[in-house]
Amino acid sequence: MTKVTNILTDSHLRRHNYLRISLSEKCNLRCTYCMPHDGIPLSPRAHLMTADEIEAIATVFVKNGIDKIRLTGGEPLVRKDFSLILEKLSKLPVKLSITTNALLTHRFIDDFKRFGLYDINVSLDSLDAEKFKFITRRDQFKLAYDNINQLIAEGFNVKINAVLMKGFNEDEITDFIKLTKDQNINVRFIEFMPFDGNEWNKNKLVSQAEILNRVTDHFGVEALKPLLNETNFTARNFRIEGFKGSFGIISSVTNPFCDSCNRVRLTADGKLKNCLFSNEETNLLTGYRSGANLEDLIDDALNKKKAVRAGMTDFDQLNNPDLHTNNRSMIAIGG
Ligand code: SAM
Repeated sequence: MTKVTNILTDSHLRRHNYLRISLSEKCNLRCTYCMPHDGIPLSPRAHLMTADEIEAIATVFVKNGIDKIRLTGGEPLVRKDFSLILEKLSKLPVKLSITTNALLTHRFIDDFKRFGLYDINVSLDSLDAEKFKFITRRDQFKLAYDNINQLIAEGFNVKINAVLMKGFNEDEITDFIKLTKDQNINVRFIEFMPFDGNEWNKNKLVSQAEILNRVTDHFGVEALKPLLNETNFTARNFRIEGFKGSFGIISSVTNPFCDSCNRVRLTADGKLKNCLFSNEETNLLTGYRSGANLEDLIDDALNKKKAVRAGMTDFDQLNNPDLHTNNRSMIAIGG
């Protein structure tokens, strides 16, 4: 293995400039694919990062090359000191973004603007109120939908994330794409991923080919225009001819983007995960509290990062629960 000097470059020579920070393990929805049916044991408050600790740990990452931070969770906006955290992070030279279910965004419009957070990814898995209630176990479709429209009207860069599950919402693919006709938003179809307690199996996946078949059946082959991929892309993007917005397909399971992976994750309890699929974690919060050198810990964690999906090179390995169910559920990792 090659030993490299920058602590955010791993042994496969991937540079990491994107940090996702989970602010909370709690959520105001209960999405079945994200949270196990019986919930998760929450970490004691004293084990979670405070606003000052988030700022201090993030600063170490930024000094070493992180220039993009996404706030996530759980639901990041349920955190009582969300605005304080945002204010602190806004002083760092980074592009800030958030992933949210939009149930509380109406309360934060001014703070988002004041602290320069314009990139907002909203999770919405159905445009049907009953299906939304079924998947989230909460009757909140109208609030989520109204708030998404408010964010668009207020000028935020909105992306809508929909996790596709066979037999649940693949019939809504074209309805989601129609949202991009008159609005410059990006809809992203995300492959359902396996996590602890989410009853994943590969038959529930909706493949890229199936998505594109539905699109071309509905809009016509000629109308489908592939877009250029951005650097470190996670989605393959397309536009329907004449539509203002675009749509993308994120196939992290069948077709992972590991070669160009530039991201690391910090859980709400201060643990660094070098890969979403990895069950190895490095406790930066304990390190910080005991005065350890965080750069050494980060360096070590990055150098252990595997080339592909935490070492699961073969798609069928994901079907073996022993290999991935020791990983936390998505709600506890921070999506
Ligand atoms: N509460 C926020 C939200 O709803 O966007 C942020 C956290 S949520 C865990 C972040 C993202 O993870 C969401 O877009 C969600 O759809 C995605 N996610 C959660 N579990 C997933 C799974 N099993 N497969 C694919 N995506 C998943």
